[in-house]
Amino acid sequence: MIRPSSTDKIAGSDFRLPKAGPQGSAQDRAEQQPQATSVQYGIRRPIVAGNWKMHGTRSENARLIDEIISRYPADPAPECIVCPPYVYLQEVGRLLRDSAVLLGAQDVCADAQGAFTGEVSATMLKDVGCQYVIVGHSERRLHYGESDQLVARKFAAAHAKGLMPILCVGEQLADREAGRTREVVARQLDAVLELCGVQTLASAVVAYEPVWAIGTGRNASPEQVQEVHAFIRGRIAAQDATIAGATRILYGGSVKASNAAELLAMPDVDGGLIGGASLKADEFLAILAVAGSR
Ligand code: PEP
Repeated sequence: MIRPSSTDKIAGSDFRLPKAGPQGSAQDRAEQQPQATSVQYGIRRPIVAGNWKMHGTRSENARLIDEIISRYPADPAPECIVCPPYVYLQEVGRLLRDSAVLLGAQDVCADAQGAFTGEVSATMLKDVGCQYVIVGHSERRLHYGESDQLVARKFAAAHAKGLMPILCVGEQLADREAGRTREVVARQLDAVLELCGVQTLASAVVAYEPVWAIGTGRNASPEQVQEVHAFIRGRIAAQDATIAGATRILYGGSVKASNAAELLAMPDVDGGLIGGASLKADEFLAILAVAGSR
C-alpha cells in the first residue's frame, strides 16, 4: 500500500508492492532476508511489532503464537513482528516456522563478542533467527541508563550483522510540557545518524514512543503523533530525501484495537510498536487488521 507522507514530493514515487514474508524456518529467513531495505522496496509497507517485554511463559507464548499465525490477515498483510524475551527467542522462532510472522529481540549488546556477562550479541540474535531488534526503548534508557551514544552503538552493532534495528525515540512528559519534544527526539536520532550515517536507515525502522504514553493508557492525539513523525521524517530528509521517504516510522504508546485506526491513519505513521496489547491475541490481531486495511 502506498503511503503518502510529508516528504512525498521530495522522496519520489517509485513504488511497488513487496512480496509476502518468506517461508521456512526463522533461521532460514534471517539468512535469506537481511539485505532487503525499505529503499529497495520503494514502499512503506506497514509494520505491526509486538514488544512482549518481560512477560510470558512457554505455554502462554505457544497459545499466543498459535492464535496469531492462524489468524494473521492474509491480504494485504502488514509486516508482523514479535519480540519475546531473549530466553524464548529460539522456541518462538520454531513456533513461527512456515508463517510470515518475523522474529525480533528487545535489545542487543553494543559489543560484538567477549567478556560481557549477561549480554547477547547481534551475531547470536541472527543465529537464533531474529531479523529485527529493538534498540533504545525508553525502559532501557530510563531503568538501565542507556545513553544516546550507547543506543547508537547498539544500532551500529545490529546493523553490521544484518539485523534491522527498530530505533526508539521519544520524550518524557516534562520534556513535552517544557516544549522540548523536538529537541529530545532530534538529539536521540542525531546520535545514530552521526555514528552510523543516514544510509543505515535504509535497513532500519524508527519508532516514536512518547514516554508518557507507554504503558500508561494515556494517549497522544493523532495530531501530536503526526507532528513528531513528520519532524523525524523531515530531519532524515535533510540528509537524504529518498531514504526519508522510504523509512518506516512506527508509533508506540498505549496503541490498542480501539485507537489504532485513528493513529495509523496519519500520513507519516507506518505502523505500531505495541506493548501491552501485543500480549492479547484479539487486540494484536485487530491492530494488524487495521494496519492492513489502511
Ligand atoms: C512499548 O513497550 O513499546 C509500548 C508502546 O508499550 P504500550 O503499548 O504498552 O504502551
